[in-house]
Amino acid sequence: MIRLDGISKSYGDVTALHSIDLTIKDGEFIAILGPSGCGKTTLLKLLAGFMKPTSGTITINDTVVASAEAVLPPEKRNIGMVFQSFALWPHMTVYEHVQFPLMHHSFAPKADKEQREERVKNVLRMVGLESLAQRYPHELSGGQKQRVSLARAIAPEPGLLLMDEPLSALDAELRMEMRKEIQHIHRHTNASIVYVTHDQSEAFAMADRIVVMNHGKIEQIDRPEMIFTRPETEFVATFVGKCNLIQGKWEEKMFIPKPFPNEKWPDIGVSINLKKKGLYPVRPDQWALSKAKEGSSHGVVKFVQYQGKEMYYIVQVGEEEWTVHELIQHTSRFQVGDPVNLVLQNTVIKKEAVLV
Ligand code: ATP
Repeated sequence: MIRLDGISKSYGDVTALHSIDLTIKDGEFIAILGPSGCGKTTLLKLLAGFMKPTSGTITINDTVVASAEAVLPPEKRNIGMVFQSFALWPHMTVYEHVQFPLMHHSFAPKADKEQREERVKNVLRMVGLESLAQRYPHELSGGQKQRVSLARAIAPEPGLLLMDEPLSALDAELRMEMRKEIQHIHRHTNASIVYVTHDQSEAFAMADRIVVMNHGKIEQIDRPEMIFTRPETEFVATFVGKCNLIQGKWEEKMFIPKPFPNEKWPDIGVSINLKKKGLYPVRPDQWALSKAKEGSSHGVVKFVQYQGKEMYYIVQVGEEEWTVHELIQHTSRFQVGDPVNLVLQNTVIKKEAVLV
């Protein structure tokens, strides 16, 4: 178990992390999600032991490994690392890359030559590189290189695997394939994984819990479905899945939207924080559009884009612009300038809310 208590990190005048508290359970897959500059890499570097925090402590299994006074360096920690840039050695074959940490990593299980060879073969099989064992990095594709860097990281059976945007250098198809690979590896090792990304779909697809960060602070730590259906803050609501935040007032358990004072919307599990601010989050696909008469409509279509499976609309409602996604089979198409009504569809969110 890894625990961060009140971790802050400043680089001169810049405070990259503000008092972070986080617990990572054994075998857990944590994704750190947030915009550029929010402190994701800084958090990963502190977990790896590359630098000291400005304040706070990091504890692994009840031993303090980092504080403002001292830090246990990376080579003395049982961790594996995978970077966006692969970081392979040009003079080593695939086989040698995977064997290297088994011979030099102080935490690698003690093994004789035969056991070591067996482990290298097993790991190469796990990442589908058996037949390429004698190749050098320049003879590999991007996806194959990233597999080598994954294999090297997991070979010594680390307790913690740190990954910094490991798929961002790959094309879309390979990224999907490597996601499966990483999930497979997670299932077949006991390692906890901390996975830094700014790709939301990656975090949603793989993580047990997602940590959403903004400006060096944690906005929410939760299971992916909770982050999506129960955003705690305005930032999470708008950053993850692009919610429309509708203003209005809460009366008992019903929400009266300011633009439509005759309507009452049910509480589908809106966070206390959003309630206090008189906000109601609506996902773009929770709206359905219907035809309306000019002069008595909720709003007017301002922008239309065909996106294959769905239509993407921006609807002007008073001073505001709301985003609407409708599946093609459910919709008659609207044009820019059409007066429309917006009908709230709650079914999806309600189902989630019952789970909690
Ligand atoms: P990205 O997604 O762009 O990689 P990030 O979320 O990983 O960003 P960090 O690299 O952790 O963000 O940086 C957090 C903040 O700290 C940023 O404002 C950055 O400019 C600053 N920062 C990072 N490293 C240093 C450094 N060595 N010296 C000064 N400021 C730094």
